[in-house]
Amino acid sequence: MLTKKILKSILNVKHTAIDDMKILPDGTIVIKAHPTKDEQCRCGICGRKSVHYDNGRGGTRSWRACDWNTHKVYIVADIHRVMCPKHGVVTASVPWARHKSRFTKEFEELATWLSLSCTKTAVASLLRISWNTIGSIISRMRAELDANPAAHFVGLVRIGVDETSYKKGHKYITVVINHDTGKVIWAHEGHGKTIFTKFFKLLSKEQLANIQLVSGDGAKWIQACINDFCPVAKRCIDPFHVVQWATEALDEVRRLAWRDALRNPADKTPKKRGRPKKDTTAKDLKGSRFALGKAPEHLTKKQQAQLEFIAKADKRLYRAYLLKEKLRLVFQCENVAIAKKELDGWIKWAQHCRINVFVELQRKIRRHYDAILATMEHHLSNAVLEATNRKIKLSVYMAYGFRNIDNMIDMIMLRCSDIDVRLPWDYEAT
Ligand SMILES: [Zn+2]
Repeated sequence: MLTKKILKSILNVKHTAIDDMKILPDGTIVIKAHPTKDEQCRCGICGRKSVHYDNGRGGTRSWRACDWNTHKVYIVADIHRVMCPKHGVVTASVPWARHKSRFTKEFEELATWLSLSCTKTAVASLLRISWNTIGSIISRMRAELDANPAAHFVGLVRIGVDETSYKKGHKYITVVINHDTGKVIWAHEGHGKTIFTKFFKLLSKEQLANIQLVSGDGAKWIQACINDFCPVAKRCIDPFHVVQWATEALDEVRRLAWRDALRNPADKTPKKRGRPKKDTTAKDLKGSRFALGKAPEHLTKKQQAQLEFIAKADKRLYRAYLLKEKLRLVFQCENVAIAKKELDGWIKWAQHCRINVFVELQRKIRRHYDAILATMEHHLSNAVLEATNRKIKLSVYMAYGFRNIDNMIDMIMLRCSDIDVRLPWDYEAT
């Protein structure tokens, strides 16, 4: 009797009676149990008391529990099906596990917390399960912790929408964030107007009327959705997208410069015998991508030297670098009037810079001029936005091994929204 009490306490299960326990030759601990009378014959979905239907496919089922030291632990029990007035014939619930799960509740809570805090390999090795299995655990946990998704939409005033690609850019997910909390409030597979429309349709009339600002990249469908659902809201452009455009333009100039340097080496002395010397200009330009992309305050000594080299060797590329840097600094101006002046100055400079991609970029920026000004007026913090964006990208990367796209979306919501994910013992404390 005492042993059963201790077992129950270690397993940390309620409404459960322990029948037996054995240790298999490989060290696995198997505990036979059954729900107490009160918890028997309940619907697996809604938990309602129902009538016994049949024994299903019969036999016993096992649920993996948290390990005891190095031993794997399983709870085994006979299962049957019940007839729920609402859900029809379903497997009866067991107090130690969620519906359709082969793990105990505690195991799933631990797995979820770990997958939000550690690397994929660490979680899979520690728990001795495949990363793909974590996907379905994540989804069950989200369904439980985020039972009322509409709660994320309360008090929305400033929102941002972003599309993130995965599967090498072949597939997309759209993510909406609340600028005031920096949290993700909605995520959905796909991108474009039809998907963003789905988000707006979830909001009430009052909630739509409350939205004052919608930010995103330069996509036309964002404006189309604003016109349809919240015409009074201001359209903004996330500053990091604008800086990204400039970085991409700079990269294009760098690639052209590198190709030119390959074709016309700086050293034109006649060839001597032996292995031809590599052209240093081309080599230096090829390795300068990170030096050009980084903010000057974060450059390493080697990268600083690379920049100095570019300033001397390729004036055009250096000019492109300065243009990118100046545009980045425009968004760091605290004062809106000064920022506007700086932006106008940048546009004039880019117009006459004689670098085609930047002339093109200047046109794009003029097309989005009002949205960029609105961004400055509303002081959308680039740092917060970038941090959220990085977190979303990391979540997408974490979810790569999942077979199901819904698992990926649930992963993003658990990692980046305000859903409170805790360790198993912290759930009990409250
Ligand atoms: Zn039911």
